[in-house]
Formats: sequence, C-alpha cells, structure tokens
Amino acid sequence: MKNREDTRKINVGGVIIGGNNKVSIQSMTNTPTKNVKATISQIKQLEKAGCEIVRVSVLDIKDAKSLTYIKENINIPLVADIHFDYLLALEAINQNVDKLRLNPANITSKEKVKEIAYKCKEKKIPIRIGINSGSFKSHDNLVEMMIQYAEENIKILEDLQFSDIILSFKSTELKVCLEVNRIASKKWSYPLHLGMTEAGTEFSGGIKNSIGLGILLNEGIGSTIRVSITDDPIKEIKIAKEILKNLGLYKAPTLISCPTCGRLQYNMIPIVNKIEEYLSDIKSDIKVAIMGCAVNGPGEAKQADIGIAGGINEVLLIKKGKIIKKIPMENAVEELIKEINSLI
Ligand code: SF4
Repeated sequence: MKNREDTRKINVGGVIIGGNNKVSIQSMTNTPTKNVKATISQIKQLEKAGCEIVRVSVLDIKDAKSLTYIKENINIPLVADIHFDYLLALEAINQNVDKLRLNPANITSKEKVKEIAYKCKEKKIPIRIGINSGSFKSHDNLVEMMIQYAEENIKILEDLQFSDIILSFKSTELKVCLEVNRIASKKWSYPLHLGMTEAGTEFSGGIKNSIGLGILLNEGIGSTIRVSITDDPIKEIKIAKEILKNLGLYKAPTLISCPTCGRLQYNMIPIVNKIEEYLSDIKSDIKVAIMGCAVNGPGEAKQADIGIAGGINEVLLIKKGKIIKKIPMENAVEELIKEINSLI
C-alpha cells in the first residue's frame, strides 16, 4: 500500500496536494454559484473556519462565467464542479479556475474528455476524476466497476501525457469507500481526495465521515479531505479539523471535558460550548480542560495546559494538573479565556 507521502504532488492554485504535504481541508458551497455575492460571502466564512480549497457547482453558463469574479474575491483555490456538459468545463478553464472536478461517467464522449484534458494541460489546471458509486446503475461488483472506470479515464488523460490528476472514490457505503480507496492507493500514485457521499446529517453524517475518513487517514491513505453533511458547510470544516487533529495531522486546540456525573454542581455545558466556540478560531495545539468537579477534575485535567474544575459558586483554575487559584463562577469563562490567551 502506498502511503500518502509516496503520492505525486499536485499544485491546486498554490495548495499542494499529495507527497509529504499536510492533508488539506476542502468544502463546497451550497449557494447558487451565479449569485456571486452569496457565494463569495460563504467562501469567506469557509476560509475563516479553516477551509483550504473550495468547490462550487457549475450548472450552466452563467455559473461558469461567474468563476473569474469569484476567484478574484477570495483567498483560497477555487474548484469548478462540472457534470454532463463539457462546454461548461471548457468555460471554467477559460475562467482560470484552479482545478476541475469531473465525473467522466457523465461526460459521455471520450473525445470531449480529451478536449478538456488538452485545455487543462495548456493552462496547468489539475483534474480530479471524481467517481461516485451513485453514478453506476448496478451495484454488483461496485468496487471493481469504480476501479475499472477510473482506470479507463486515467488512461485517456495519461495518453495525452496529462498527469495532474487527483482521484476520488466516494460512496454512501462506508465499507465500499474503504475498500475502493485502499485498492486505489495501491494501484496509483495520484493523490486521493477522500470523502463519503450523501453521508447524512451533522450527527449521523459526522460520525460516518469520521469513521470512514479516520480509518483511511490512519492507514496513511488520503491527501485531502472533504467531509460532507447535509448542513451548513462551515460545520464540515469543523468536523474535518477534528478528524485530522485527533490523528495528529492538524494543529488545533483540544478541548478536554468530562462526561459529567452526579458530582456535577454547576451549569457546565454552556461554559464548555462557549470555550469550544472560542477555541475554534485559534491556531495552536493548546489543551484546555473543563471538568465537572474538584474531586476528580484536577487529576483528570493533568494532561491539559490549562483548565477549570467546578465547585458550587466557584471554579478551581488548574495549570498542568496543579490548582492555581479559585475564581467566582460568574467570571469563569472570561478568566479562562484570559489564561488561554496568555499561553498561545
Ligand atoms: S470530573 Fe467530576 S463531575 Fe466530571 S465525570 Fe469526573 S467525577 Fe463526574
């Protein structure tokens, strides 16, 4: 099995996917692309949340013609997602997008795929061959069919000496996703974009993405990820960061909080939520603990840089497992934020 470090490096608008580069985080807007104001605004929010590459759908020529304007008003690489109409792909190339995502399964003629590849080569625009299980009529031998389909399309591009290729194999079936990506990682040196498709809501989809992407990333497979859930795309970024952070692939704060039990004597959950929100914008690997009680809290918070353990009207401030001082409950959030800021 090839590790992600052994894959080719593909330059997507300045973000390098593959090789020993860090696993990049992607998302996709859910605004109509031609509504450039809404699309740019959503991309700015995604950027702020930590998105490194963003994809937009191109449904018609108006969407395609909006791409340059969108690109000029954002700070991360822009990917055009094209289905069915190869003319839209050609227009997206004219608009100098940073990458094309094509599902060759629905661009019916090989000649058209060739024309797209030829133009992409001229402009050094990489192509992600995105193969989704949903595109196949029969689901018998699905994994084999997805691999075979990728093989045929890779060959079209390679015959044109086009090698700026990224591959993705997505399915709603977690086991299919695991199997097909494992095979692809052995077979090709092109970097893999990982994702589950039609994964579900923040809750169920978040879990499915975490398991699927987490298993593959932990095996060294996958150079870029897109978490997909039926919700605000900002949440996709948050989940992606959590997955990567827990695997040691992303530097971000860790919030340690106890599950609470009968010993809890203060309203802890709102404090945890406020601190989590505060930490979401911080680029540091600080560990912050919020524990329910003074009985077990300080001991359990030892692995944290800073933390609190609750009492009745006050909390204990704990640094590296040592109690530093007592803080009145009403100042707990403010004081903890001050301490966090002093450490980052
Ligand atoms: S820290 Fe205290 S409140 Fe939280 S789970 Fe442990 S014993 Fe219960």
